[in-house]
Amino acid sequence: MPEIVVEVENLVKYYPPDVKAVDDISFDIGSGTIFSMLGPNGAGKTTTVEILEGLRNPTSGSAQVLGADIFKDYSKIRKRVGTLPQNFEPFDLLKPWEAISYWASLYDIRISKKEIDRLIESVNLMDRKNLMSKKLSGGEKRKLGIALSLVNNPELLFLDEPTTGLDPKARRDLWNLIDIIRDKGTTIFLTTHYLDEAEKLSNDVAIMHKGKIIAQGSPDSLVEKYGKSTIIVLEGAGKAGLAKLKEIGISASIDEIDDRNVLVEVKRHSEMKATMARIANSDVPMNDIYTKRESLEDVFLSLIGSKMEDGVLKE
Ligand code: ATP
Repeated sequence: MPEIVVEVENLVKYYPPDVKAVDDISFDIGSGTIFSMLGPNGAGKTTTVEILEGLRNPTSGSAQVLGADIFKDYSKIRKRVGTLPQNFEPFDLLKPWEAISYWASLYDIRISKKEIDRLIESVNLMDRKNLMSKKLSGGEKRKLGIALSLVNNPELLFLDEPTTGLDPKARRDLWNLIDIIRDKGTTIFLTTHYLDEAEKLSNDVAIMHKGKIIAQGSPDSLVEKYGKSTIIVLEGAGKAGLAKLKEIGISASIDEIDDRNVLVEVKRHSEMKATMARIANSDVPMNDIYTKRESLEDVFLSLIGSKMEDGVLKE
């Protein structure tokens, strides 16, 4: 079992008069893993992160970070923790190397030019080292933010929505970077409203909705528990295909996303071959047939009943 780096029990945060932003949540984060808190805007992610960063007091509950009680002993561990706040913007008029040097001074760290270069190199910004930060792209600014958050060589890194608003290429770049940081042994607490990001990066995911954690576990275990196993998609089969399948005793449903398609759920993998053969031997009308593994997106849809786009729930 990995060492536990963050241990949260029955954490609650009220904002007066009546917002229950965090509603009795509990979870553990193992050393050297990426833990993602996934949820729509307003779910309570940032409030949770800020409590664990020692910036806000919870209303009740307990939390240990790197072995320290967040109420009593945060000062003992503050320098072992790194943070990238939500919507991070670097200092416009500082060049990346100047920003790192300034940030280090805030932590009372004497940092050499070589160490600054190493940090800039680690986030692939060497060719931007002498450019004023305001001239960096959105993705480059976040990379610089990550370099700043690493200045104290943290054991635990909080990344609050690090890729929000970035284009797909910049998001993938940051994913690689986050993966590398984890591989070097840093534990990462990530908040995100991107399902693909949580699925790609996390060892463990907590799905948060209205202040509560409604499901948690590895992406695979969540898919196994809440997903519909493997799905056979009969593209273009429509209502006629659905009727034909019923005739041969195969239960199926119309795809909610594209009603031209029919979906057959196969609960056990051992049933797949036989089910495929029965469909192939019938004359169900269709344009194509393929299988699809469920993803966290399907888990989210089945748990919350809506899809999520850019942090907003879609009815
Ligand atoms: P987002 O992705 O939009 O940042 P989030 O999941 O991080 O959302 P929080 O920012 O923690 O969620 O907000 C949780 C709830 O608490 C929301 O209803 C929000 O409006 C409310 N809230 C957050 N900060 C405060 C505050 N300082 N005072 C009062 N209510 C607040």
